[in-house]
Amino acid sequence: MMLELKFDSRIVKEPIISKATLEANTLINIMRANVGARHGEMVIEVEKSRVDTVIEVFQSYGVEVSKFDRKIIKSDECVHCGACVSICPVEVFSIGKEEKVEADSIKCIHCGVCVNVCPVQALTLP
Ligand code: SF4
Ligand code: SF4
Repeated sequence: MMLELKFDSRIVKEPIISKATLEANTLINIMRANVGARHGEMVIEVEKSRVDTVIEVFQSYGVEVSKFDRKIIKSDECVHCGACVSICPVEVFSIGKEEKVEADSIKCIHCGVCVNVCPVQALTLP
């Protein structure tokens, strides 16, 4: 399951992922990170059975945690050109039956790169 973390300058310099990995006794996969001097945002993936523990640990550090469910939406406007297939960093798109492009939106990390390559604006991010 994916979680979104938001934190301020007090936490930016802390090794929160390493600490949480040890404290929650589970692996944490960083899917996307945008960390500056004053603010940080990350999307992480954790094992479903450890989600509640991981949330508690991050909240104890003062991190704002929410379940990440803002996934890509592919509309019927899609013409199955395939441009999004190779550009997505987490392989959301694949070519399925009858050469149609399919989206496994659950994997989406909301990076946004596919939206700009679609020639018919069939992709939107909530
Ligand atoms: S927004 Fe990024 S992760 Fe999501 S489907 Fe598009 S390219 Fe893939
Ligand atoms: S880039 Fe757009 S039109 Fe092309 S396969 Fe992807 S969603 Fe469909």
